[in-house]
Amino acid sequence: MATRVIPPRILRNLRYNTATKPLNSVHPSSLSPTLSPPIFLDQKPPSSTVLLRPSSDPSGLNFHDVEKLFSYVPTSTLLRSTAMLHATGIEPMVDLGMWVMRSKLMEMEGIKDVILAGIRGTFYNHFCAGEDAITAGQSIGLLKDAGLRGMLVYGVEDAHDNHGCDKNLKGFLHTVDVSKSLPPSSVSFVIVKITAICPMKLLERMSDLLRWQQKDPSFILPWKQDSFPIFSESTPLYHTRKRPEPLTMEEESDLKLANQRLFELCQKCVEANIPLLVDAEHTEVQPAIDYFTYSSAIMHNKGENPIVFGTIQTYLKDAMERLKLATKAADKMNIPMGFKLVRGAYMSMERKVASSLGYASPIHKTIHDTHKCFNDCSSFMLEKIANGPGGVVLATHNVESGKLAAAKAHELGIGKVNHKLEFAQLYGMSEALSFGLSNAGFQVSKYMPFGPVETVMPYLLRRAEENRGMLAASGFDRQLMREELGRRMKRIVAMF
Ligand SMILES: Cc1cc2nc3c(=O)[nH]c(=O)nc-3n(C[C@H](O)[C@H](O)[C@H](O)COP(=O)(O)OP(=O)(O)OC[C@H]3O[C@@H](n4cnc5c(N)ncnc54)[C@H](O)[C@@H]3O)c2cc1C
Repeated sequence: MATRVIPPRILRNLRYNTATKPLNSVHPSSLSPTLSPPIFLDQKPPSSTVLLRPSSDPSGLNFHDVEKLFSYVPTSTLLRSTAMLHATGIEPMVDLGMWVMRSKLMEMEGIKDVILAGIRGTFYNHFCAGEDAITAGQSIGLLKDAGLRGMLVYGVEDAHDNHGCDKNLKGFLHTVDVSKSLPPSSVSFVIVKITAICPMKLLERMSDLLRWQQKDPSFILPWKQDSFPIFSESTPLYHTRKRPEPLTMEEESDLKLANQRLFELCQKCVEANIPLLVDAEHTEVQPAIDYFTYSSAIMHNKGENPIVFGTIQTYLKDAMERLKLATKAADKMNIPMGFKLVRGAYMSMERKVASSLGYASPIHKTIHDTHKCFNDCSSFMLEKIANGPGGVVLATHNVESGKLAAAKAHELGIGKVNHKLEFAQLYGMSEALSFGLSNAGFQVSKYMPFGPVETVMPYLLRRAEENRGMLAASGFDRQLMREELGRRMKRIVAMF
């Protein structure tokens, strides 16, 4: 028997629906380009060739010229985004919206349609790229005009059996096809969630087994292929306290199928020359996710540019150690490796699970430590890619982290021409940072979930929850947006 020590009841309550990954942020700016035309001003589309702009700030980021910053954003979008931002900042309104989305009203046919239409016209249009890959492709076209790129995220449920995994795989493969059909390099990455193509239970079992092998290196895992190190000396292993039973024949056969699915997806990405970015999830299953990521990278990453990228969550105390161990092993094996760096989205879950088992949280004690870890890991990766193969995606809405990384990248001579560095923000959020970085000469992508409104609902609920009460904290983007709206209004008034 496996020795997963977290009671299933606790997990059920704690686990996010990772279908459309819960993503935290404290900067809910809201200016996603939309299909709607500008309503007040005709804006001349700026040249798509953006050169490095001199600035007294070593990062090269300029947030002072709001006209330039938002020059790609139609006024209608600015207005709608400002309204959305305010709405998501009014707590009772968010509470009501979330209650409606979770209520029995969603089970009543006619009423459900009205609610879904309402959600589609507001939250959904703001945070999601479209109901299918074709519409998402159109949204990507608009981003491209604005000098940004897209990371396509097919919104799927966690899979619990092979049937669900096969269905999800088809969606991921279709996403690669659509990405391939779009203008070259408008899609920077296709995103995959391993929890959608390998049954959840199996990921838990594999993680248990991997953790046990970390405790006892003589513990043999016959199914284990070549991988980079998954744990560091300080990685907490508390999820697994008893020696787990080996995988059953049925589990081994499910693992074979999961390997085949990931292999097929990687091959498709290799053929399309579009890198595949593996999202990180919670630590109960992350060892298995890292295992799949690293073994696939060993198989598919060749030459200078990685095809398979993993994700490191820098809110974890062991993040830097694991990043160093994995990159060192990749270097030794001559494998170009890519990482997306994030702070991490499962903080409350991690803390609750650890405390329910009587252990210290794996998350840094203070937010300051997390910021430091993110910035240190960024700096480490930037130095690595400046001097050798590999790639890094800096996925953050944090302006300070963006500035620090931009300054370091300038110092190292890494810019837009260097395809090894990508900045990324969620679609519908932190537009000022996205455009600021892009104007400063960097490649910037928006993380764009797409899929039917109902499927993407868990993601929207998370967005609403995270953005509640953010009015005070998210002053930066709101202020810039308001400044630009005011400037445009004045221009209109002056015309009469
Ligand atoms: C493109 C993209 C892809 C992403 N992919 C993933 C992914 O694969 N897996 C994943 O888990 N997340 C992912 N995220 C979400 C990310 O992890 C963050 O939740 C989110 O971006 C907020 O962090 P930030 O860097 O934007 O920083 P900020 O805006 O500065 O946010 C900081 C947040 O960090 C949290 N925090 C972290 N550590 C602490 C601490 N010690 N004490 C208190 N608060 C703390 C707080 O909630 C705080 O609000 C992704 C985000 C983006 C933009």
